[in-house]
Amino acid sequence: MLTFVPQLVIGAADLAAALLFMYGLWRMSSPVTAPSGIRVAGLGMLLAVLASFLYLYGVSGAARAHLPSNIGLAVIALAVGGGVAWWSGRRVAMTSMPQMIALYNGMGGGAAGAIAAMELFGDKAQGATQLVVTLLGALIGAVSLSGSLIAWARLDGLIKQPLRVSGQKLINAAVLVATLAVGATLVHAAQGAAPPWMSAAHLIELYFGLALLVGVLMTLPIGGADLPVVVSIYNAFTGLAVGLEGFVLQNPALMIAGLVVGAAGLLLTRVMARAMNRTISHVLFTSLGAPSGHQEGAMRGSLKPTAPGDAGIAMRYAGSVIIVPGYGLAVAQGQGKLLELVKLLQSGGVSVKFAVHPVAGRMPGQMNVLLAEAGVPYDLIFQLEDINGEFAGTDIALVIGANDVVNPAACTEKSSPIFGMPILNAGQAGRVFVVKRGEGKGYTGVVNAPFYADHCHMVYGDAQAVLSGMIEAVRELGLPAAA
Ligand code: NAP
Repeated sequence: MLTFVPQLVIGAADLAAALLFMYGLWRMSSPVTAPSGIRVAGLGMLLAVLASFLYLYGVSGAARAHLPSNIGLAVIALAVGGGVAWWSGRRVAMTSMPQMIALYNGMGGGAAGAIAAMELFGDKAQGATQLVVTLLGALIGAVSLSGSLIAWARLDGLIKQPLRVSGQKLINAAVLVATLAVGATLVHAAQGAAPPWMSAAHLIELYFGLALLVGVLMTLPIGGADLPVVVSIYNAFTGLAVGLEGFVLQNPALMIAGLVVGAAGLLLTRVMARAMNRTISHVLFTSLGAPSGHQEGAMRGSLKPTAPGDAGIAMRYAGSVIIVPGYGLAVAQGQGKLLELVKLLQSGGVSVKFAVHPVAGRMPGQMNVLLAEAGVPYDLIFQLEDINGEFAGTDIALVIGANDVVNPAACTEKSSPIFGMPILNAGQAGRVFVVKRGEGKGYTGVVNAPFYADHCHMVYGDAQAVLSGMIEAVRELGLPAAA
């Protein structure tokens, strides 16, 4: 029997954890406060985990005999999971963060699925409502697990191309209907009407197998440009699955944490889908059965290399510069040098602004975080819709390690994987300098035609080295020092 004191402590800890999750999430909405938001939410998670141990007071009967070994297993699992997360979190490169998010997301879905499996195999779900909620949590958790693993493999380059077959929509629908039918049979069997053709345990195994297959089939055909949105959808799925399993276990901390994550994931998905000019159903279903090949047309013009120093001097004598940062800047870790260059230009009277595309880099908000990390003043950073009209009246656009986010093929070529995505109109500036190492394409592998335009020059090299060259050249001009 739970004694009054542990019950009170559990309730208070759950409430405090829920408030910390929400406060942490709120702080994560700005790159400036995001690091502390992560710490606050982490504290909430620690509190929820500690409170979970108090639930063991309530264990009675035969289960009490297993208490010491169960506590031991839980502590080992926490140590292993926490250790792996600590180790991998410290060594992961900023540019590999999306893969890691997809992987951890999948683990969350898998954990929710595992709780559901315990309930189902242990025959613990009481009544039809609880059983349906458990099965729903199991389905969503399993889809999130297998879907996130496929997204991870795609983002990590283990699976290079989306996999599409004709009739895929039909196959996916058939597998989903079969999963739901097995679930319905399980509910029916729980009312005492066991199907003669399969034991309940085998039905549960089949249910999980089919649910995992749904996640795989749903994710394999999705195009590279839409993968971030899909990861975000699975994030929402994981939250929902955890919340449902919290309901089954009557654990308020799980319920609240799950629903907070689910709601935040859903909002992020909407924001990202809108940024890509997609609907969520477009992301999930339109690529099914669509051809995966995109034909590149012949390029007009040529790529014209220029030296970093020349580009730096041109910017120093310009009236206005808009900088478009992209994935390559994060790879090169050139954000510090970039700020140095910006300060030099500003001290010479040049107006400098940053234009940030919502899906620049490899994870939502990556550029904002990168620039905030370097100490770029927030009032210099503009989002796509706020700055796109300014490129045409700007002397120079400096595109640094960005490619897809300035590619007008997104507006003009229907067969392009990025078709429909709004882009930054960097090509409309008076002159354009593009910093990249060579002729590598962007994330989606589409050639960028404006790089061949007359007013565009390529500054080849690693972004950090190129920025150093620009800084040196501007300094050598010996113009006014920083005010
Ligand atoms: P991008 O299209 O991937 O282009 C990055 C460019 O940076 C490449 O053309 C590459 O060319 C250059 N580069 C790489 N390393 C460099 C270095 N060390 N120094 C200088 N340049 C370097 O990047 P983006 O314009 O930022 O677009 C983001 C893309 O990723 C979009 O298609 C988006 O949908 C996708 N995506 C976004 C997210 C997200 O949530 N933000 C997640 C997953 C995918 P070189 O090889 O020639 O140097």
